[in-house]
Amino acid sequence: SASTSTDAPAEVASARTSATPKGLAAEAARRRTFAVISHPDAGKSTLTEALALHAKMISEAGAVHGKAGRRSTVSDWMEMEKARGISVSSTALQFNYKSGESDPDEPVSVINLVDTPGHSDFSEDTYRVLTAVDAAVMLIDAAKGLEPQTLKLFQVCRHRGIPVITVINKWDRPGQTPLELLDEIHERIGLTPTPLYWPVGIAGDFRGLLRRGEDGAPREYIRFTRTAGGATIAPEEILDADAAATRDGSDWDTAVEESELLSASGQDHDQEMFLAGQTSPVIFASAMLNFGVRQILDTLVALAPAPGPRDDVKGVAREVTDPFSAVVFKVQAGMDTSHRDRLAFMRIVSGVFERGMVVTHAQTGKPFTTKYAQTVFGRERSTVESAYPGDVVGLVNATALAPGHTLFTDKKVEFPPIPSFAPEHFSVLRAESASKYKQFRRAVEQLDSEGVVQVLRNDIRGDAAPVMAAVGPMQFEVVAARMKAEFSVEARMEGLPYALARRTDAESATELGRQRGVEVFTRSDGVMLALISDKWRLQYLQKELPELTLEPLVATA
Ligand code: GDP
Repeated sequence: SASTSTDAPAEVASARTSATPKGLAAEAARRRTFAVISHPDAGKSTLTEALALHAKMISEAGAVHGKAGRRSTVSDWMEMEKARGISVSSTALQFNYKSGESDPDEPVSVINLVDTPGHSDFSEDTYRVLTAVDAAVMLIDAAKGLEPQTLKLFQVCRHRGIPVITVINKWDRPGQTPLELLDEIHERIGLTPTPLYWPVGIAGDFRGLLRRGEDGAPREYIRFTRTAGGATIAPEEILDADAAATRDGSDWDTAVEESELLSASGQDHDQEMFLAGQTSPVIFASAMLNFGVRQILDTLVALAPAPGPRDDVKGVAREVTDPFSAVVFKVQAGMDTSHRDRLAFMRIVSGVFERGMVVTHAQTGKPFTTKYAQTVFGRERSTVESAYPGDVVGLVNATALAPGHTLFTDKKVEFPPIPSFAPEHFSVLRAESASKYKQFRRAVEQLDSEGVVQVLRNDIRGDAAPVMAAVGPMQFEVVAARMKAEFSVEARMEGLPYALARRTDAESATELGRQRGVEVFTRSDGVMLALISDKWRLQYLQKELPELTLEPLVATA
């Protein structure tokens, strides 16, 4: 989505010149695609706005709040999400950003911020989004430190090898000491924090940032000035050490001492360790006051990886300069009941996307035309004309597409499926009325293929009452709402008394079936899952029957 028909940035060359291998490599190199991982209230929305203020927003993919009147056509489950205050408003924002430090000849960077949906609740969507990014910003509230949802999302980043930049937010408010916060990160998740910018002034008295060099030595003092209500970019004064000492004496001295302590304990930035997920650059900020926001963008540009090659199912790398390919990472259906809207969001892996091109859907081998596919941008639907590796494009009415699917041109490719995450909530689903059984089955099949929930079956329960497994309980409500709106089926759900799922196999299934508090199922992807009542039951099984296969799924907790 580098250029849209309504707002084409002047810096972006035409798709034609950028479609050459050299042009493509340059387009990929100037892109950074990332997500913010945080616990509700840490300041993700505030930071997003602050980033938009510092960069030039190009486009917004997937906004659902359309023109006046459109709102009435959004379906029940969207209403439900809105009623619960969950942000579904945009899937990806795209900014142009020119770092203050880069030389004038350096190209403008294109920043793609992919939203992690699910605000106070979780769904698999939240995790799938992380398959579409090259880096994550872990946003932490300075007073609260690491919180549960941040931890869950961090584990997914670690599992996928996504490098993490840490931002400690709300430094304008009283909080913990900076060294305490770093200790917590190190001790609880084993990530070594390597601050790039150290706060001058305690939490609640945020004066500015000491910029640390690669060797940890203080480079300069970036002193901020508050603006009214934090509504505009905070003016910065750049001071050298002498000027800093004169200006903010003891606060500056404390920052210098603490920075030296960090160097003494080896907490200086190392690019290889960062990319390997062992260390995390740290920036202190106040999203509300716009302090440290430019530094976050500069860090993304300087250190976060640009879109690179991705391995296909055979382990062969698809290079960014190869012909077009993309992975679908999210499908949003039922946004507009009158049109049976179904938006599939893809992240481009290689080549150039030009609207109208005919691509192949790897899972069916069928051609898929993007000619009539609209893309939703901002308040109005407009079309995306071209896009490059790292960009996110929404395709309308892409009925056959599901998360994990591949689209390509020319050179055949299929990327590995997106892993299903460990479900923690389980419910039996039944149609209220037996006469609607056919619709019920179709609905289950459809929602399963879209990855709305995981569907589990076993011979004992049969097909009439499949078990739904979800990462977050809201997924069940989405199922019920969509069954009603799209298939006219009233469905009933009963929670099951299981709290854990473990991967098992046919050999272990018989013995597990005899155990109390355990039930074995087959998921629609063929994986056998043992649902277990609680962790004590699991520990008992592991101790008493160590020969049984009970492997953790992709960790979410
Ligand atoms: P989200 O739930 O992570 O999207 O968090 P929001 O951006 O909605 O912020 C939650 C609350 O924290 C709001 O009341 C914000 O005004 C406030 N907030 C966000 N960033 C800061 C900050 O840097 N300093 C202070 N003092 N408050 C902040």
